[in-house]
Amino acid sequence: MIENRFFSIKKLIPKNVKILAVSKNQKISSIENLYKLGQRDFGENYIQEMMKKYKVLPKDIRWHMIGKIQSNKLKYIVPFIHLIHSVQNLEEIQIINKIALKNNRIINCLLQIKISNEKNKSGITEKESYKILENNIYNSMNNVKIVGIMGMASFQDLTKVRNEFSYLHTLYNEYKKKYGHYILSMGMSRDYNIAIKYGSTIIRLGTSLFGER
Ligand SMILES: *Cc1c(COP(=O)(O)O)cnc(C)c1O
Repeated sequence: MIENRFFSIKKLIPKNVKILAVSKNQKISSIENLYKLGQRDFGENYIQEMMKKYKVLPKDIRWHMIGKIQSNKLKYIVPFIHLIHSVQNLEEIQIINKIALKNNRIINCLLQIKISNEKNKSGITEKESYKILENNIYNSMNNVKIVGIMGMASFQDLTKVRNEFSYLHTLYNEYKKKYGHYILSMGMSRDYNIAIKYGSTIIRLGTSLFGER
């Protein structure tokens, strides 16, 4: 049952680690169940799916975008989005800034860093992320703020997972000092315990919360 899963995970993770409930492919009623238990942060991979849910669910939900950015649809979510975890280039940041300005908002974003060499794991290199953070165009924007980094580890190989999370944690600490970053988004259902050991501040849980889809 969703209630048991939710509270047993909550009991075992430190208070300072936030749980993002990844609700992609989940029914409205399942999201409502978690909401009733006090969960307020929900993450989606696709803008269209997020919009459908946003429209009917309580307005105090904090919506997180965790999937590949669809630039032409950003205008739908920028008015309400809480955090975008998956920014990968300056063009996306420019579009977000422009729409945010129109909406009189400042949008917090994370840069998605590629930490696994698996083909289906996207993200940018450390060097590319540094270039964005030092970029004059980015630094002159008033309506977008990069506040941390996000990463997805390899599948199952725990030694790899540890190395990848350790690497991301080191980069996060560097950016924390240099740029005041305060969010490290790493860890999913299968590896969140390891992610927490390596300093994750927000774990993204789908199946472990909602059950298998
Ligand atoms: C689907 C997804 C998750 C959650 O995955 P689970 O294994 O179901 O916990 C986390 N992060 C991203 C980016 C995802 O796409």
